[in-house]
Amino acid sequence: MSLRLYNTLSNKVEEFKPLKPGKVKMYSCGPTVYSHAHIGNFRSFLVADLLKRFLEFKDMSVTHIMNITDVGHLLEDADEGADKLEEEARKQNKDPLEIAKFFTDSFMAASELLNMRPANHYPRATEHIKEMIEMVEKLIDKGYAYVVGSNVYYDVTKFADYGKLSGNTLDDLNSGARIEVNDEKRNPQDFALWKHDPKHIQQWDSPWGRGFPGWHIECSAMSVKYLGAQFDFHTGGEDNIFPHHECEIAQTEGATGKKWVNYWVHARFLMVDGEKMSKSKGNLYTIGELIEKGFRKNAIRYALISSHYRQNYNFTFDGLKAAEQAIDKITQCVLTLGEVTGQGDGSIRGEVKELIDNAVNGFDEALCDDLNISKALAFLFDFIKGANKLVDINSAEAKGIIDAIEKIDTVLGVIEKQSEDIDEEIIRLAEERKQAKLDKNWQRADEIRDEVAVKGFVIEDKPGHDYRIKRKEG
Ligand code: AMP
Ligand code: ZN
Repeated sequence: MSLRLYNTLSNKVEEFKPLKPGKVKMYSCGPTVYSHAHIGNFRSFLVADLLKRFLEFKDMSVTHIMNITDVGHLLEDADEGADKLEEEARKQNKDPLEIAKFFTDSFMAASELLNMRPANHYPRATEHIKEMIEMVEKLIDKGYAYVVGSNVYYDVTKFADYGKLSGNTLDDLNSGARIEVNDEKRNPQDFALWKHDPKHIQQWDSPWGRGFPGWHIECSAMSVKYLGAQFDFHTGGEDNIFPHHECEIAQTEGATGKKWVNYWVHARFLMVDGEKMSKSKGNLYTIGELIEKGFRKNAIRYALISSHYRQNYNFTFDGLKAAEQAIDKITQCVLTLGEVTGQGDGSIRGEVKELIDNAVNGFDEALCDDLNISKALAFLFDFIKGANKLVDINSAEAKGIIDAIEKIDTVLGVIEKQSEDIDEEIIRLAEERKQAKLDKNWQRADEIRDEVAVKGFVIEDKPGHDYRIKRKEG
């Protein structure tokens, strides 16, 4: 069964064919690190994670690059206005790179909490100015870009395919759009590749004078550097389609002369009370805030991946509670099966084998159908229901079912695993300590830590009330 996926570029569901059999290259627009990423941002990142995990489930290897934007992303995604990072740096009276480091660390910690498979590389924009300048030079040489003073702009009328991703043709844009007041541009839709602004804190030397790169050129230059001039997937949230990704295509294809990305995957917004979750609206939650409220990290992950990526996800606390119950059902099934000891005749009955095959194949087929996650989850829960009903189950059958659930969970990533050699009493104490800490009962939390230590274990605290149990050394 092969994967079919909606491609924003063709406006159609298409069969996925990697450029190289078995090897997939994927680029995801990552966070702008001027604040904690919110769960709306993570919905988009998790769509990429789900897709990547599913490709890996189907035995493909995925090279995944996610950039970190630490310069050049201006408010309102426009050419004019404050740089998001610099504005935060001024507010906090800090260096922009210090702000970037703090929020990059926060992003990485939250990604780990959400069990996102790490990208192969997280290139930072400020560390790739040389590659951006080289691409801008190429665009000037080829006549796609022009210099005005110390600014460089892309001339959108020179790229015949401008609009092919978003459907925004220049005619439509010019007739409907607000007219930008910028005398330097040849056409209102031209966008900045390199900007001169003496007030900007982060500046670099360039052939056109000191300045900083436009936001769009970052992704073009870094993706080509790490994945080459052509690759399979580019992902982002729906607001990235225009102008960001449209401009990325004009730049990259202009510079390389080749078709760049084959499949464009965009996640629809996460909403709160009918509105997009966004920093500017202030209607946001971060992963840390939800964990502080006592929600489990795997429930947050489950909630964010459990609705179709091409539909808006309406965020509610009830949705998170439902996610917790769903995970408990999966975990409980695995735990109960793990206790089966009866050997029987050691073979797996035909009906059990059928149950397992139906579940794994159904899950696979559902995700092949444009990542139909609701249908895929329905297969999982039917499987669990069927497994719970089995009578006289033997340990080979139980193991077969657990293996299948764990295989499915390589895509979902929601079952929490504890190392097997830690006995249940220790795990129970660690859970009790986590609750004591949430209740701010520090005395009980310390007592438990000591009790666990006497039994030869250490509870290592991790961000967001998470923990890891380790055997004491020596
Ligand atoms: P930013 O940090 O602003 O560059 O955004 C990072 C990613 O989050 C981008 O791919 C955006 O498209 C995406 N994004 C922003 N808000 C939302 C939202 N409410 N729902 C889903 N994705 C979002
Ligand atoms: Zn980007």
